[in-house]
Amino acid sequence: MARVALVTGGSRGIGAAISKALKQAGHTVAATYAGNDDAARAFTEETGIQTYKWSVADYDACAAGIRRIEEELGPIDILVNNAGITRDAMFHKMTPQQWKEVIDTNLTGLFNMTHPVWSGMRDRKYGRIVNISSINGQKGQAGQANYSAAKAGDLGFTKALAQEGARAGITVNAICPGYIGTEMVRAIDEKVLNERIIPQIPVGRLGEPEEIARCVVFLASEDAGFITGSTISANGGQFVV
Ligand code: NDP
Repeated sequence: MARVALVTGGSRGIGAAISKALKQAGHTVAATYAGNDDAARAFTEETGIQTYKWSVADYDACAAGIRRIEEELGPIDILVNNAGITRDAMFHKMTPQQWKEVIDTNLTGLFNMTHPVWSGMRDRKYGRIVNISSINGQKGQAGQANYSAAKAGDLGFTKALAQEGARAGITVNAICPGYIGTEMVRAIDEKVLNERIIPQIPVGRLGEPEEIARCVVFLASEDAGFITGSTISANGGQFVV
């Protein structure tokens, strides 16, 4: 059945692949972004998917943006919390600002986006929420205390909400990608990529954004109704939980 899906950070990188795959699966998709208007415009021209600009770190902006999308497209049945940032630094050099920005976007952003859709999903007795966490939320990563803490928090959030939503027909799951070949990762020096990063990945390559997108499409489908509170590790075997 076609539903309305909202993908945060859905105009670039992994989020863009998720938006396209959900559209391909027949859903009406709204993609949000934070500030890169050029990328959003190019994405809409390429895909026909409508984009909306606000920060997931701002609760009031999330509530207003969601209201607007629901008025324009209908009730949101699928929410993909994908937007995320990094502000890496070794802990002794990490500033309170770097800590706060990452927690506000990568962890509090999930509260801000999920809270305004939750009551509607409960009333309609249907919802699919997919949170994009990270391998580094599972294993921790030096230089990313802020990011690892936020992404681990996303997993706790997923498990708690799964228990609250189960009776109301709402499933809540997480995906933990490993190294995915987005612009950011492909921009890493080729020598570093080939000699230091890829050798850590047992399948011997980076993941593709579409591989994460296909996991999302499945978790967002009616067929996945018995799966809730779970985490899919999509990391080429780099970290086996
Ligand atoms: P990108 O940097 O390519 O894209 C991030 C997207 O999120 C952009 O659309 C950006 O908007 C949006 N965004 C950032 N901050 C905010 C905000 N405050 N409010 C709303 N939107 C925001 O990221 P990736 O595709 O690489 O990553 C997507 C998700 O996957 C993230 O949660 C990331 O942590 C996770 N992940 C990525 C991995 C990888 O290898 N790439 C590995 C593991 C996890 P704008 O275009 O305006 O900047």
